[in-house]
Amino acid sequence: MSNQRSKLVVGNWKMHGRLAPNVALLQGVARGAQALPQDVRVGVCVPYPYFAQAQALLGGSRVAWGAQDVSAHEQGAYTGEVAAGMIADFEATYAIVGHSERRAYHGESPELVAAKTQRALAAGLTPIVCVGETLDERESGATECVVGAQLNAVLVVLSADEAARIVVAYEPVWAIGTGKSATSEQAQQVHAFLRARLAAKGAQVADVPLLYGGSVKPENAAELFRQNDIDGGLIGGAALKEGDFLAICAAAAAAADVAG
Ligand code: PEP
Repeated sequence: MSNQRSKLVVGNWKMHGRLAPNVALLQGVARGAQALPQDVRVGVCVPYPYFAQAQALLGGSRVAWGAQDVSAHEQGAYTGEVAAGMIADFEATYAIVGHSERRAYHGESPELVAAKTQRALAAGLTPIVCVGETLDERESGATECVVGAQLNAVLVVLSADEAARIVVAYEPVWAIGTGKSATSEQAQQVHAFLRARLAAKGAQVADVPLLYGGSVKPENAAELFRQNDIDGGLIGGAALKEGDFLAICAAAAAAADVAG
């Protein structure tokens, strides 16, 4: 079963890439994306130093670009931070916030993630808000409690109109970069829970794109994207390989086609 919502596939390059090899990857993805139906949207979130390159090589293509993080501050004496307005200066569309690697390695609290979401929205960016449980949390039956609290921290600081402009990515921590994806049933179950939480915020929030992330590959993408509440994917490792990333985008197109 799938739904009528369009699909969205976003690559998260993490701290990968170099100026020279990026050219072939960005151009290849832009070329491949031309063949996708209009109801599939594609984006890549690159490291900050490659924004100008992404803008130059993806501008005018079907592929949007974005950041992997954003400062919670508007501007000022925050050495090393990058403001949402600076990201928007490069015509970026997306900013990932609350990725589990930021929460785990940089101690980002739910409140900080919420503040970053607000900054991204204020600058006209689309925040991709990541939520997800650890293996311990899943095994102790706390998945809904954890992801519900992470999402709620963001929803409480947003109006319904603002909340309608976010994207949410469910990324179980145990599935990120491990090669061990959630099953489509596990993912759908959490997505349905998140969908209900979004719908409770307001009718216009119910159809916010809900992405699954965590070891998505060409081999498992179609099955995941066919699920009723999975609107696409946030793709890490596979986004660094042109063929794999485009195959995942094609799987999103096929899933959208089944729905239509
Ligand atoms: C991610 O980092 O957001 C991610 C989903 O990584 P991977 O696809 O490599 O598991």
